[in-house]
Amino acid sequence: MARRRVGGGQRTHPGEAGTVGLEQALTRPPTGERARFDLGDSGGPRLVGSRCGDCATAVWPGRAVCHRCGGCDVRDVPLARTAALLTFTEVHVPRPGLEVPYTLGQVRVDDGGPLLFGRVRGLAADAELPCPVRIVVSEDGGDGPAYWFEPAR
Ligand SMILES: [Zn+2]
Repeated sequence: MARRRVGGGQRTHPGEAGTVGLEQALTRPPTGERARFDLGDSGGPRLVGSRCGDCATAVWPGRAVCHRCGGCDVRDVPLARTAALLTFTEVHVPRPGLEVPYTLGQVRVDDGGPLLFGRVRGLAADAELPCPVRIVVSEDGGDGPAYWFEPAR
């Protein structure tokens, strides 16, 4: 069976009938042009990422080719609206547009979703980890959609 090298030249992916579907992946929009949010979902705005059909790795924003296995059977998927906050830190160094202190955290999106990093709002100082959170998507910031995490209540 013929194999092709995909990404980095170190991994191969057998694909179907010896092809990897790379030509198909190259016809998909690059990461910078892919939809990152679904603002019209009936359940409210949510993040849209991609999931690999070969190894089930999910990422946000979505990609045309899986970064983990090099597979090209990658599909856009809406991500869960909930996650588990794994770690956080309070930031005391100001940045334009953000009052200090603010909290940044890393979450694991539910339903096998990706690890994400972002702002956390409304977290109690003594929160126990992992802490269930909601992923809030809003267009109110003025610079396009933004997301952050809030403790699930
Ligand atoms: Zn994969």
